[in-house]
Amino acid sequence: MNIAIDGPAGAGKSTIARLAAKRLGFLYVDTGAMYRAIALYLLDTETDTDDSDALKDALDQIRINIVYEQDVQHVFLNLQDVSAEIRSEKVGNMASRTSQIKAVREKLLDLQRDIARENNVIMDGRDIGTNILPDAELKIFLTASVDVRARRRYDELRNMGEWPDLEVIKSDIEQRDYQDMNREIAPLKQAEDAVLIDSSEMSIDEVVDEIIRLKEEAEVPQE
Ligand code: C5P
Repeated sequence: MNIAIDGPAGAGKSTIARLAAKRLGFLYVDTGAMYRAIALYLLDTETDTDDSDALKDALDQIRINIVYEQDVQHVFLNLQDVSAEIRSEKVGNMASRTSQIKAVREKLLDLQRDIARENNVIMDGRDIGTNILPDAELKIFLTASVDVRARRRYDELRNMGEWPDLEVIKSDIEQRDYQDMNREIAPLKQAEDAVLIDSSEMSIDEVVDEIIRLKEEAEVPQE
């Protein structure tokens, strides 16, 4: 069984998906981490992403591997564990820009589908229900107001020891939403058969409970 969770930046997808996966005994797959790993490589190598030859050469050099250690996903970029490094705002913003590029998306498509074929997964991202796993048994579109999302991201970064500016985070989130929703390939949008959950006024546990309830509902054979 596959569960797809899509939604805008900072909606709490990864926290919720991780907890729900744990309760269900599913594998949690964070596809944003894969886009972030590519973005990290392009940043580190100062690749000019407008130069299609340079971009192609760079993508050819990139090997992304996903490894699970005690059910926790680790992302390896050319055999190096970059799971912590990819969490910065800089890498997130670069990922939002470079995820618009067709060749970048194509590079990750099979990797994501293969993991879902071989496991029961909760996979989160932007195009999972619409593009990667159109046959997922349950699709969730998880969102929250931009203020709530900015505040959550701010708290997350503070917990990582950073001193972010809330207004900058908010405008970064707005820009990322705009880019993710308006790109040509696989834009962020709610799949027709996805259930909308607005978590602005909900606790983490309430959202997880709701997803477990929907999963049980999805398992009941329909007449
Ligand atoms: O979810 P996260 O913030 O880690 O994702 C970083 C960026 O990767 C997003 O802003 C989005 O542009 C891109 N992404 C995507 N498709 C996915 C997952 C992430 O385009 N399935």
